[in-house]
Amino acid sequence: MNPGARIYVAGHGGLVGSALVRRLNAEGCGNLILRTRAALDLTSQSDVRRFFEQERPEYVFLAAAKVGGIHANSRYPADFIRDNLLIQTNVIDAAWQSGVRKFLFLGSSCIYPRDARQPISEDALLTGPLEATNEWYAVAKIAGIKLCQGLRRQYGFDAICAMPTNLYGPGDNFHPENSHVVPGLMRRFHEARLAGAAEVEVWGTGTPLREFLHVDDLADALVFLMDNYSDESIINVGSQAEVSIRELAEAIGRVVGFEGAIRFVRPEMDGTPRKLTDSRRLKAMGWKPRRALEQGLAETYRWYCHAIGQRE
Ligand code: GDP
Repeated sequence: MNPGARIYVAGHGGLVGSALVRRLNAEGCGNLILRTRAALDLTSQSDVRRFFEQERPEYVFLAAAKVGGIHANSRYPADFIRDNLLIQTNVIDAAWQSGVRKFLFLGSSCIYPRDARQPISEDALLTGPLEATNEWYAVAKIAGIKLCQGLRRQYGFDAICAMPTNLYGPGDNFHPENSHVVPGLMRRFHEARLAGAAEVEVWGTGTPLREFLHVDDLADALVFLMDNYSDESIINVGSQAEVSIRELAEAIGRVVGFEGAIRFVRPEMDGTPRKLTDSRRLKAMGWKPRRALEQGLAETYRWYCHAIGQRE
């Protein structure tokens, strides 16, 4: 990206937004426009319009969203659909109205039908029913995609939509129950090692297959797409590296230095048996992730220890 460009990263305090800021800073982009939630309420149309009129960003990464796991989605369905519809409609509309040159909207692989054929290609969008537990979030994200696509088709607005696979990395939520599997297990293994525990519990059977992407690799891909992609079609961002939850747990155990046993509990917690995106289109454009899973886990663990103020 042009180092002098005026770039607005919406959601810069979150997992993806903070990685984008690191990546853009590394690239020498010194003109980042950032607002905390307290300084700018993205659910307020008038505030968002005023902000765009005043700041006139040229490029926008929309990484602000209400996100959460299965538990949060089922508990706060109205918040998930309402907040996301408001945030994205306000930001996309104000960006278009104020003449933003290029816009990147972030979705998620959960926008795809529950029973989509694996690996999931971009064409699977809107071909079947969604996973019921997160359809509030997914419907909002699909509306955001359609808004971007409609604005491009009708008015030539250069908005692109990237769909990342399961993410992990520095800045993730390490809550003991409400987090995703990587931070959840990292914390549990860490605490077990410190306590000298003989075993750690991992949910499910260990057999589900997942694809993981380090958030710094995602940020790299998003900047690459901003520079090289201008198309109506959504585009997947995955690592194409698939592991079972057992393999993941063993890798986290090695990274953390936990030498006890792993016990699989609550088999009903497996969730979908396999979730892998087909990211061949991005690969064909010449982009690939840099970090192997274990290396990315080690980096994340260093960040976590630092964040909680403990030695590795
Ligand atoms: P999903 O990809 O939407 O299913 O997201 P998750 O990251 O929540 O879960 C991935 C898989 O890891 C599921 O099969 C979980 O049952 C399994 N898992 C094992 N232990 C944990 C844990 O401590 N936390 C979470 N979130 N998942 C776990």
